[in-house]
Amino acid sequence: MDYILKGHEMSDDVVSVLMLFFQNEKYVRVEEAGEGLTLLSYLDEKGAGARLYENKKEVAFFYCEKSPTPFLEEKREIKRVIGFSASMALKKYKSLPLPWGILTGVRPAKIFTEFYESGMAEEDIRTLLKEKYLVEDYKLSLMEEVSKNERQILKKGEGKVGIYIGIPFCPTRCLYCSFTSYPLSQYGKKKGAYLDALEKEIVFSSKYIRDKNIESIYIGGGTPTSLDEEELERLLYLVEKYFPSPEEYTVEAGRPDTLNREKLKILKKYNVGRISVNPQTLNQKTLDTIGRKHTVEDFISAFYMAREEGHEHINTDIILGLPGEKEKEVENTFKGLEKLSPESITVHTLAVKRASRLKEQLDSFELEDYRTMDRLVNYARECTEKMGMFPYYMYRQKNMLGNFENVGYCKENAACVYNVEIMEEKQSILALGAGASTKLVNRATNEIERIFNVKSVDDYISRIDEMIKRKEEGIKWL
Ligand code: SF4
Repeated sequence: MDYILKGHEMSDDVVSVLMLFFQNEKYVRVEEAGEGLTLLSYLDEKGAGARLYENKKEVAFFYCEKSPTPFLEEKREIKRVIGFSASMALKKYKSLPLPWGILTGVRPAKIFTEFYESGMAEEDIRTLLKEKYLVEDYKLSLMEEVSKNERQILKKGEGKVGIYIGIPFCPTRCLYCSFTSYPLSQYGKKKGAYLDALEKEIVFSSKYIRDKNIESIYIGGGTPTSLDEEELERLLYLVEKYFPSPEEYTVEAGRPDTLNREKLKILKKYNVGRISVNPQTLNQKTLDTIGRKHTVEDFISAFYMAREEGHEHINTDIILGLPGEKEKEVENTFKGLEKLSPESITVHTLAVKRASRLKEQLDSFELEDYRTMDRLVNYARECTEKMGMFPYYMYRQKNMLGNFENVGYCKENAACVYNVEIMEEKQSILALGAGASTKLVNRATNEIERIFNVKSVDDYISRIDEMIKRKEEGIKWL
């Protein structure tokens, strides 16, 4: 799909709108309309317009005038009119419900929070989002609730830091995965060398947190419990020694097939307070399709075993929109989860990510349409509410089915603080391991800087001194 820009250079904003309407396409900036569809987005003194051409012939047009509003500074208003005109022109051509209106960003609750913190009354924020961004009521109420819950959590995190440690190994690679994850069959023998490099980074980085309060530690990946018992103990021992006394401590034990009683005991011994055991679905046929290589029963036994070993906070992740899953299948998943009664559930909407097998094999799967996804997303909200949970964090990704959202639901006092902090970007997060990116947040100036580690396990191992040097040169504050 082609696009033309005139009078502005806001390519990302225009491409984000194109992605809402035409997912999984290549978006190419051109100088003039050619064969197929081309969107022209232009900015003039009064506002922004969009013209859609099909085989060089104009098929839709929309113009949006700027209308200065308190709290909406000029730059934001320009972004808005460009997004608005492009969305409306495309909507004339392709009728598509837009529950999030013209909001394309990944952090909808953050927008609500920003307006709130700039002094706007909640009612005025609702009106602004509804009228100028066309957000529908049910998404507005979700945004508002998440923003409120997040604000409470963020207040407690001021002046503290978070730590992320990545363990990029998994038993197999899931169909939809785009994370830094390496299958054990090929990379298992590199775990020892990986931990050697990680130990170097942990020891070096500990100097930055000596005078800090650690609010949260999150060991993710990959699947950290892909490490064997000895390796897991080695890692947790190092974390305890160099990053002591976090207020919250999470380890992703995502794949049930990596768990056993011994590992659950080790997690407990090192005071891990929250683990994630993720079924993604409780339908065996789907588990087979997505390449998880474990059964529904494996998940249920792992969950009960974790309870027996005293794990009081278990999170479960599920994904809506997996191939072949409609209401009946999602209902079955929730029925199972209700019986297990986890403390929190993260409900994802399937996203077709560039680096995933799903993207490569897209033609082999029939994915759900907008209407089904809308029903599934709303159904998940009802079910979690019935289980005594409320939404406490949320984010959107590119190429999500139906352009919906991922939402973390939890019971009272069971929110994962790390999830909120990483999403809302109010706290510095020191990140270690392959693919990890350290985020330095300056609360006084709202500046954010990032320091990236290399993604590949081999590069991480061989270039660990360089990763450490990147931190040494890049960390100006924490
Ligand atoms: S468990 Fe998570 S990180 Fe591992 S392959 Fe599956 S989606 Fe990727």
